[in-house]
Amino acid sequence: MIATSYSIFSRFERLRALLITDQPVNPTGPITRKVTVLIVGGGPVGLALAAELGWRGIACVLIEQSDGTIVTPRMNSVNIRTMEFCRRWGIADQVHACPFPQDYPHDVVFVTSLSGYELGRIALPPRTSDKPAPYSPMRRQVCSQMWFDPILQRFARTFAHVDLWYRRRLEHFEAARTGITAEVADLETGQVQRVEADYLVGCDGANSMVRQSLGIGLKGETLGHSLNLFFRAPDLLQKCHKQPGTFFLALDRDGLWANMRIIDPANAVWRLMVLDSAGKQTSETTDRNAIIRRALGLPIDVEWLTASNWTRRSMVAERYSQGRVFLAGDAVHQFSPTGGQGMNTGIGDAVDLGWKLGAVLDGWGGDNLLSSYDAERRPIGIRNVALTTDFYLEHEKFGDPFAAIEDDSPVGTKMRQSVGEALVRGVGRMFRTTGLELGYCYENSPICLSDGTSPNPDNPQDFVSSTRPGSRAPHLWLRKDHSIIDLFGRGFVLLCFDPIAAENSVLEAAAINAHVPVQRITIRDPDAAQLYERRFVLVRPDGHVAWRADNMPADAGSVIEAVRGAAA
Ligand SMILES: Cc1cc2nc3c(=O)[nH]c(=O)nc-3n(C[C@H](O)[C@H](O)[C@H](O)COP(=O)(O)OP(=O)(O)OC[C@H]3O[C@@H](n4cnc5c(N)ncnc54)[C@H](O)[C@@H]3O)c2cc1C
Repeated sequence: MIATSYSIFSRFERLRALLITDQPVNPTGPITRKVTVLIVGGGPVGLALAAELGWRGIACVLIEQSDGTIVTPRMNSVNIRTMEFCRRWGIADQVHACPFPQDYPHDVVFVTSLSGYELGRIALPPRTSDKPAPYSPMRRQVCSQMWFDPILQRFARTFAHVDLWYRRRLEHFEAARTGITAEVADLETGQVQRVEADYLVGCDGANSMVRQSLGIGLKGETLGHSLNLFFRAPDLLQKCHKQPGTFFLALDRDGLWANMRIIDPANAVWRLMVLDSAGKQTSETTDRNAIIRRALGLPIDVEWLTASNWTRRSMVAERYSQGRVFLAGDAVHQFSPTGGQGMNTGIGDAVDLGWKLGAVLDGWGGDNLLSSYDAERRPIGIRNVALTTDFYLEHEKFGDPFAAIEDDSPVGTKMRQSVGEALVRGVGRMFRTTGLELGYCYENSPICLSDGTSPNPDNPQDFVSSTRPGSRAPHLWLRKDHSIIDLFGRGFVLLCFDPIAAENSVLEAAAINAHVPVQRITIRDPDAAQLYERRFVLVRPDGHVAWRADNMPADAGSVIEAVRGAAA
C-alpha cells in the first residue's frame, strides 16, 4: 500500500522554454542552429541518450553519419538493467515483441562442430516459459541490434523536442567555457552547417573523433582480432541433428576456436565468429568454405551474407568528460563481447548522464553534478571491462589441442565429459551475469552519502540486493505488475517505511527548498521495509540510492546539497 505527496514538477514549462530557444538562429547568415544538447553518433548509446533526454523533456539533436541501416549487427543480448530502463521508457513490450521467436530456447551449447558431439549445454528457457526472477521485473532478452536500434529510434522520435539527423557528420568542434560550436557536414548535399550547443556528447564509437579531439587516451590492451561471417542456412539444426539452442561454441581437436549464433531464426540467419584470426584472416582473404565446413562438420551449402573484421579490446578512457563535452559508450570503453555487456554498459552511461544533464538544464542540478558522471561511470566501465575480459580469458584456457575429443572410443568419451563440464563451469560464466548486470554500486560517489557500511561482495554471478548508497534500489512487487522500481525515474523519491515518522519529513522540505523535484512515498509493506533495510531511503532519478537512514538527518539541507551535486 502506498501514499504519495508531490512537489515540484515544472517539466512542461521548461520544455516549452527550450523549444522556443531551440530554433534556427541567424537564418539569413551562415546556417547556424542553436541546440541544447548535441549528440554525436546514432548507435544504440547515442539513441538511448536521445531517448532518455527526450523522456525528461530535454531538447537535443543527434547526428549520425550513416543512414541508420545496420549492415552487420553486433549486439544481441539486452541485459536485465537495460530492460528495466526500457520498462521505464515504456518500450519493453516492443523488445519482447521483436522478431526473435518468443518460444525459441536460448540454450548455450558446447559442440565439437554443429553436427558433431554435444559436450555440454546450459539450458536457458525461451521467453514464454520463463518465470520472473525475484530480483527484477524484467529478464535478459535476445534482440539483435537490427531490431533494438530501430525501437530506440522510433521512441526518441516520439518527442517533438528530439531531432535525429542522419547522413550528417561532425567535422570539427570547439569547446569554450560557455558552450560548443560544431561544424556538421550534410553528407547528401556537402553543405556544412554551424551548430551551437550548450553541451556535446560523443557517442561516436570506438574510434571516437570527439574523444581523440580532446586528446583523451584509452588505457588497456588489444586481446585479438576476430572475424564475423553472416550466412543464411534454413533448417540448419535439423540437418545437423541438434536440439534447438541460440549459441553454439565449437571446440575441436585444435581447441576452442569459434562460435555460431542464430540471429534471426525466422529467416535462418546465423553468425559464425572466428574467435582469433590473428589479424591475418580478413573477410576477403579467408577461405569461408573451409571455415564453415569445420564449424558445421558437414558439407552443407550456406548463402553468404555480410562479413566484418573487428578488434577485440579491453580498454577504458582516461576521462569521460572535459568541460561541456561528455563521452559515452564505446567512445570510452571497449569490451570483449564475451558476456554481452558493451552496449548495456553504454546505456547505463546514457541514463546516468541523461538525468544529470536534465537536472542542470532544469536549474536544480548543482555545479558538481556533471563531474559526478565520470566519478560514477568510469569505475563501472573499468569493472565491466575487467569482468568480460576475464570471460574471454576463460576461452584461452581451452586453446590447446584436444587430440581425442572427436574419437569414438572410451578415451574420447571420457575427454568429452570432462571438457564439457569444464566448459560449462568456466566459459559458461559469461552466461551467468546477474551480479554483473545489477550489482554495480557507485562506490565513493561524490553525490551518494556513505552510511559507513561495508561494500557487498561484487560477484558477477550472484546478485546481492542492497540499498547501500550507490546501489540500484531493489525490486519487489507492490501489487500485480507494479514493481517498486516503477516509482523511480522522474525526480528523487523519498521512500518512507514508517508512516508516522514520514509525516515529519525535513528531507522533503529541504529538497523543495532547493527546487529539487521530490516525491515522498510511504510504503506499508513489511517485505518492502525489510528489503529496503532502513526506514528512509532516498532514490535518485536513475533508480540508485543516494542516501538512507533510520532517522531524518540533523542537517537535511546538506544532504540535499550533496545529492544534487552542490556540495563543495
Ligand atoms: C560481435 C559483437 C557482439 C556484441 N554483442 C553485444 C551484446 O550482445 N550486448 C552488448 O551489450 N554489447 C555487445 N557488443 C558491443 C556493442 O555492439 C557495442 O558496445 C555498441 O554497439 C556500442 O554502441 P555505441 O553507440 O557506443 O557505438 P557504435 O554502435 O559504434 O555507434 C557509434 C556511431 O557513431 C557514428 N559516428 C562516428 N563518428 C561520427 C561523426 N563524426 N559524426 C556522426 N556520426 C559519427 C557511427 O556511424 C556509429 O553509428 C558486441 C560487439 C561485437 C563486436
